[in-house]
Amino acid sequence: MKVIAATKNKGKIREMQEILAPLDIGIVSQQELGFDVDAEETGDTFVKNALIKARAVAMVCDYPILADDSGICVEALGGAPGVRSARYAGDNATDEDRINKLLTELGDNENRRAKFVMSVAFIMPDGTEITAEGEVKGTITKEPKGENGFGYDPIFLSDELGKTFAESSDEEKNSISHRGRALKNLYDKLKKMN
Ligand code: IMP
Repeated sequence: MKVIAATKNKGKIREMQEILAPLDIGIVSQQELGFDVDAEETGDTFVKNALIKARAVAMVCDYPILADDSGICVEALGGAPGVRSARYAGDNATDEDRINKLLTELGDNENRRAKFVMSVAFIMPDGTEITAEGEVKGTITKEPKGENGFGYDPIFLSDELGKTFAESSDEEKNSISHRGRALKNLYDKLKKMN
C-alpha cells in the first residue's frame, strides 16, 4: 500500500519508511507527489495536531494519508515543550538552539524525567480516520551525546537502551521509539479492521 506522509521532516519520513517497510506499506512524502500543504498546528494535544495535518492533505489528494505530531515532554517543565517541541526556540531555530534552550530551562534540576510522544492520524480515501499513539521514557542528559538521529535525540537517554537516541543505531531507536510504537499500534488497528 502506498501512503502519503503529511510531514516535511526528512528524519521522520526516513524512520517511518524503515518502520513500515516490513509491513509492506510504502511511505511517499507529499512533496514527491507535487503537494505542498502546510497546516497550522493549532491543537493543544498531539492527536489534535496529527488530525489537523492529515485532514489538510486529505483535502487535496485521494491517497491514504499518514500524519503525525510528536514531541518531547519534560516532567520538571510541566510537560513542556510538548506540542511546541518544533517551535520551542522560535521559528528559525536549529536543533542545537532547541537543545540549548531545554538544557538551560532545566538547569541543575534533579528531576530529569522525560518522554517522547507521538500521535499518528491515518485517513483512508473513503474518509475513515484512525488515530494511534506511542511513547518512550527516559531522562534528559546534562549535555548532548551522539551524532545519529535528529531533534532532541542527543539529550534523550533512553531507559531501555541505556544510551541517548543519538548514540543508538536506527534499528535500536526504531525498535522502541514513540514513532515505532505509534505506527505499530496503528498497524494493529488497521489489521483488526480487515
Ligand atoms: P512536529 O511533530 O513536526 O510538530 O515536530 C516535533 C518536534 O519534536 C521535532 O521537530 C523534533 O524537534 C521533536 N521530535 C519528535 N520526534 C523526535 C525524535 O524521534 N527525536 C528527536 N526529536 C524529536
